Amino acid sequence: MVKVRFAPSPTGFLHIGGARTALFNLMYAKAQKGIFVLRVEDTDLQRSKKEYVDEILDSMKWLGLDWDELYYQSERFDIYREYAQKLLEEGKAYKDGEAIILKMLPQQVKIFDLIRGEIQFDTETIKDQVLMKSDGSPTYSFACVVDDAAMEISCVIRGEDHISNTPKQIMIYQALGLKPPKYAHLPLIMGEDGTRLSKRNGAVAVSDYRQQGFLPEALINYLMLLGWSPGNNKEIVSFSTAVKNFSIKKVNKAAAIFSMNKLKWINGQYIKQADEETLIDLLIPFLRAKGYIKENFDRNYLKNVVHLFKGRLSTLLDFLEWTDYIFKDQIDIDAELKEKYLSEDRKGSLKELGQKFKKVDVFNAVNIETAFKEVVAFLNLQSSDLVHPLRVAVTGRAVGPGLFEAIEVLGKQKTLERLEKNF
Ligand code: GLU
Repeated sequence: MVKVRFAPSPTGFLHIGGARTALFNLMYAKAQKGIFVLRVEDTDLQRSKKEYVDEILDSMKWLGLDWDELYYQSERFDIYREYAQKLLEEGKAYKDGEAIILKMLPQQVKIFDLIRGEIQFDTETIKDQVLMKSDGSPTYSFACVVDDAAMEISCVIRGEDHISNTPKQIMIYQALGLKPPKYAHLPLIMGEDGTRLSKRNGAVAVSDYRQQGFLPEALINYLMLLGWSPGNNKEIVSFSTAVKNFSIKKVNKAAAIFSMNKLKWINGQYIKQADEETLIDLLIPFLRAKGYIKENFDRNYLKNVVHLFKGRLSTLLDFLEWTDYIFKDQIDIDAELKEKYLSEDRKGSLKELGQKFKKVDVFNAVNIETAFKEVVAFLNLQSSDLVHPLRVAVTGRAVGPGLFEAIEVLGKQKTLERLEKNF
């Protein structure tokens, strides 16, 4: 039976690397109708924190990384003690104070890694291993081996940084007379600057990505590309399609590069594809937090705004930026834009436009455009002379979606106010 586990230590939040490990485990399990275990490795009672456990579980649920079984190592100390006791009785381990230590026998250890092929280790240099510390808690490697065996984990899929722990763990299996699982060590994830992923280059918590307005499906899609490729140069791939094509043997050995721009691009694609009602639901908490909408907001109106901007967003937070001119009563126009587009001359033309817009009864894009063209002709100008000044005056920006649609959603009242006195 295929059974894998993701085994985070709750001494920090769930980061990109951890989420990628969890995802690859889940893809492997799902591809073979196996079981996915979440094992919280909270043996370090000092450094493990409940807030980290909560964040890890929440983030996994949010990402859709649903587990079949959940264990906490802190609830299993009796089991580790029993196994250690057995090794003591068999003379394979000894006591030093309260600690229980495994004798290491020098030998060659070989593993066959599903991603990296055969790896040989010389255990000559490995010192005797502490199994149980004097405070009664197990060491990481010991608890890991006991649990992987007890839980009948068939394949251990984890980050490459754990390769060096593998020979020690194999020796513990041997001492216990148990058969080790298969191994697959996933490639490192590096930042674009070639250094190990850190806070500086993207390794922030999954919950931070959530707060920045990334969609879970997009993050999952991006994570699967960190070391694996769905083939055919495809980059936008759903989880269920990925599962159909997934093979752990096709995972790269070379380090994966984390690119924030790529992640944003993928997120933008998911936003573009999402239907508007779904997007509204996703945006509501962001809009509320910003104070842009109240309890009794007009959903239909919001739908028009979403429709206009959804093609331009990398994240949900971008929506707040693009639409601030709609939700705020007043806008600030920065000095540079003022100087470039709002000369005295142009301001006069814009007032003229305001007069004309006032007479437009049905304030929709088509009628706004007609009125605009009439004023341009009347003033003997080109459309291009007034497009930018108009956009800057009413939206505070030099770029945006279709100008007349942007003005339509802003509405007549705010448009007129801004054309009369906003500069
Ligand atoms: N608790 C370990 C970690 O978070 C798990 C390593 C493993 O998968 O064996 O790195």
